[in-house]
Amino acid sequence: MSHKPTRPLKPATLAAQANGLIDDGTGGVVPAIHPATTFVRDDTYAPAVGGNVYSRSHAPNARMAEDVLAQLEGAEEALVFPSGMAAVAAVFRTLPAGASVLLQSQIYWGTTAWIRDFCTRRDITLIEVEASDSAAFAQACADHSPSLAWIETPSNPWLRVVDIAACAQAVHDRGGLLVADMTTATPVLARALSFGADIVMHSATKALNGHSDVLAGALCCKDAGAAIWQAIRLDRDTAGAVLGPFEAWLLLRGMRTLPLRVERMSSNAQKLAEYLSDHPRVEAVLYPGLPDHPTHALACTQMQGGFGPLLSFVVKGGAEAALGAVARLQLFHPATSLGGVESLVEHRHTIEPHTGIPEGLLRLSVGIEDAGDLIADLAQALGQ
Ligand code: PLP
Repeated sequence: MSHKPTRPLKPATLAAQANGLIDDGTGGVVPAIHPATTFVRDDTYAPAVGGNVYSRSHAPNARMAEDVLAQLEGAEEALVFPSGMAAVAAVFRTLPAGASVLLQSQIYWGTTAWIRDFCTRRDITLIEVEASDSAAFAQACADHSPSLAWIETPSNPWLRVVDIAACAQAVHDRGGLLVADMTTATPVLARALSFGADIVMHSATKALNGHSDVLAGALCCKDAGAAIWQAIRLDRDTAGAVLGPFEAWLLLRGMRTLPLRVERMSSNAQKLAEYLSDHPRVEAVLYPGLPDHPTHALACTQMQGGFGPLLSFVVKGGAEAALGAVARLQLFHPATSLGGVESLVEHRHTIEPHTGIPEGLLRLSVGIEDAGDLIADLAQALGQ
């Protein structure tokens, strides 16, 4: 049996070895799935093993995934949820009626729509701001003293990069907290807690799991003793938004290859972005790895090892031309979501027609396939 490492480990090692996890009962290098919902007590009526009582609060497979994710994020603790939106909701349910919240504009539409509705119902003042403009964000903090600010970087589907450290400073100066949705970056490319965010959120459905076969969400905290984290933990335990054991097990398995997949997806996406930016039928390419991207310089300092799997581009000729190209693609599946090993294409305007998304915009989630095959597919679909 190997010994516990004495040096701090790099993410690829932590992930591949699931933070040194060995199955207690068997010595297996892969953990068992624990479906039990309830756990026995000893003669003194104390929980017999590891404090486990009932799986709404004590879920061994969820705990394993959380430990690995917390290590990868540099977090004190992580909590997993049955979807990314369940993680978003867990944060917002901690806010009292009458609070003020800043929300980055033009982020993942599902998040915006849910938060708008929730804040209306809860009598919470919601201020939406273009957070990639740090001055506008700071001004909004000064004007409204929000108790919480929510950013997403790079944003989906606009690929705007937000200065996490500047936002953290601005909201902390007013006594508030910063939550960063880092779904598209993953901890491999950017660890938001190290830039000053208080909580990191992930749709673990995306790259963390990476195989389009688990719906899950996660929150990671800088300070496990903070009141908001205690409230989130209590809410999950009592309201019951717990990830099931099989999903948690799959998520843990997916995370073992996270650094490898993110590296490959990012280098593929960079190649595709460069190819598309020279294409005569393409009007614009939105990818932070391109030198002419408005926040390229910030992306270079805030992200390391690449710029992620998500890229958007605008086809000349509007919706008809874009949908025609989608219909001709042979390798990119026309489907929503992102961060899986297989490449996807989505016409976001069809999904959210009233949010200002250009009609010709196609969003790609670039997978781990051969970059040459993906470029050849785009070439034949775009007609060049
Ligand atoms: N955040 C981002 C950036 C997303 O892209 C998504 C889903 O597409 C979510 C949150 C919501 O996550 P889930 O679909 O796992 O509920």
